[in-house]
Amino acid sequence: MRIHGRINGLLACAVALLLTASGGNSAPIGDAELRDSGKDQSNWLMYGRTYEDHRFSPLKQISEKSIGKLGLAWSRELTTTRGLEATPLVQDGILYTTSAWSVVHAMDAKTGKTLWTYDPRVPRARAYFICCDVVNRGVALYGGKVYVGTLDGRLIALNQRTGSPVWDVSTADSDKPYAITGAPRIARGMVVIGNAGAEYGVRGYISAYDAETGKMAWRFYTVPGDPSKGFESKAMADAAKTWKGEWWKVGGGGTAWEGIVYDPSLDLLYFGTGNPTAWYRDLRGGNSDNLYTASILAVRARTGELAWHFQTTPGDNWDFDSTQPLVQADLFIGGRPRMVIMQANKNGFFYVLDRATGEFLSGKAFVSGITWAKGLDPKTGRPIEEPDASKPAIISPAPDGAHNWNPMAFSPESGLVYFPAKIGTQSLHVPDTNWKYNPDKSNLGRAPGYEGPLAAKLKIMPPPTGELLAWNPVTQRAAWRAKYPVAVGGGVLATAGNLVFQGRADGILAAYRATDGKQMWSFDAKTGIMAPPVTYQIDGVQYVSVLAGWGGPDGLGNDPSWGPTKPGFGRILTFVLGGKTPFNPPAFGHKFPPPMPALTVDSNSQLVRQGELLFGDHCAGCHGANAIAGPLPDLRYSSKATLEGIQGIVLGGTRAAMGMPSFAKILNPGQVRAIQAYIVWRARAGAMAATVKKP
Ligand code: CA
Repeated sequence: MRIHGRINGLLACAVALLLTASGGNSAPIGDAELRDSGKDQSNWLMYGRTYEDHRFSPLKQISEKSIGKLGLAWSRELTTTRGLEATPLVQDGILYTTSAWSVVHAMDAKTGKTLWTYDPRVPRARAYFICCDVVNRGVALYGGKVYVGTLDGRLIALNQRTGSPVWDVSTADSDKPYAITGAPRIARGMVVIGNAGAEYGVRGYISAYDAETGKMAWRFYTVPGDPSKGFESKAMADAAKTWKGEWWKVGGGGTAWEGIVYDPSLDLLYFGTGNPTAWYRDLRGGNSDNLYTASILAVRARTGELAWHFQTTPGDNWDFDSTQPLVQADLFIGGRPRMVIMQANKNGFFYVLDRATGEFLSGKAFVSGITWAKGLDPKTGRPIEEPDASKPAIISPAPDGAHNWNPMAFSPESGLVYFPAKIGTQSLHVPDTNWKYNPDKSNLGRAPGYEGPLAAKLKIMPPPTGELLAWNPVTQRAAWRAKYPVAVGGGVLATAGNLVFQGRADGILAAYRATDGKQMWSFDAKTGIMAPPVTYQIDGVQYVSVLAGWGGPDGLGNDPSWGPTKPGFGRILTFVLGGKTPFNPPAFGHKFPPPMPALTVDSNSQLVRQGELLFGDHCAGCHGANAIAGPLPDLRYSSKATLEGIQGIVLGGTRAAMGMPSFAKILNPGQVRAIQAYIVWRARAGAMAATVKKP
């Protein structure tokens, strides 16, 4: 009997090897495989590993005892320097991931060998209408297909074995600034996808498509449309009562760009929604809730009808998207079992809701220093706002949130939720009273170049800090906090090895003991990490993989007060016990100081100042605050030809194919001259500061 079992095991092993070698003939994943994905030790079949989004693996070969032997098995460059946020999926030894620009890769998970790559060829000029880098958070696997959402709003099904497209549908009006950065999710034979764009002005929605054919099954709008055209549902008619003015002309916002989960037992699909457009309440006609923005929603997966809603930030005024991960669990609360859904929200509060009804069970601040709300109403969970929170002020958390999209993990063994928290982020809350909707640019409504007393105060405030936070969702208290030297930490993985894995902005991938937060192991990936690690098993051996690639809003904005962040060449890294593969990635970036610019331009102080303000408004989001860049070109190092050709680049769109679009609709040649003067001035300042420093 025992020998028989062993032979069977060997046979299975050989077959698995053959299948892997031929490029992946895995059995198509169906509903049963997804429902039982928690029991499947070897694979990582969906975004959060299970429908509950636990990101907890029962594997424990790599454990608190053996972790000292963990080393690099392989790494592979993904030919980008942009942000990488994807969760790789793994089935039967094959790993599927996305990289920047929605490119999909299938590779041998044991060796990193490419099996196929699919590039949806997103027009690079789209980058202008993507708030937070050209990122993608991964694929879905189902029915022998790989699904990806693209930055230009398409949903594409690929043949899982070959990577060739099976169907390709547009999920959004391509004339509008919609984008998809989120990973598609699977629910009852449908592919569910949302979109982004609330920073520019669009009407948010989530759609479900037949997984086999790509035919749309339903669409749920998150904000009401033009009342004169009639509302799609009672939910939209109800929501319309909570809006003022002519919101539909701007779109309304409320985009569902991340945080989608499904509960097959209730047949409910949960997702969060983003901010209303514009960011500021006063620019939307004043106090009103603006449903269903900044909310957690449950819709019936069969029909797309609203089941319940819970608004985390009514009448959001601070970009407090509610699109952070939603984690389901069955917890004992108040002496009885509750089916809950949990979220560590951008706004600084940790929410526990009944996921069948949406009832607020509890909520607590998980960071200190929140300035916009005193707390939550204990009965309803509605925030109790500070009286001055709506006026020009320094607001904490900043729009980037006390926690953002970065996945969190829940360990049923420790009962703790693990996620990256940012403490003490602050931003200026100063609306632009002259703001008018402009479809050709972003529509935050933020006062440009504000230099008042608040700005001076903000400059001297302490920088934010970051930590891995282990949170007890029952007691609503921290179990432990592991501080790190940067503000931004990446997504999290928890395992039965009593470990929690997390990368961070300075390129360190670390493993902590799940029970007490003691750091047990680390590896320097030399490139900032935002993405969550995953773990899987091939032929009885456990692996850990993570994408390293620094970017996103924090990476591109390159705020030095956020710690020693590390731009670099993006790659995937895979670790195994006993791994000894050498790791010598090429250096990234320029040597300081920049050379003295070879171009002399009119640099009267008024022109430079005008350029500084324009740069802050239109360029800094990608080329860095004070023209000191992270992953994208640092313009202080521009060649003479580039500086001379700046009108053609900025207005003529000569580098649109590289992702630098034309700004002809919003800037004029005089303004570009001012930006040029500012860049030259910054380059000179850089060169001279270094000269002065030399002995
Ligand atoms: Ca937002």
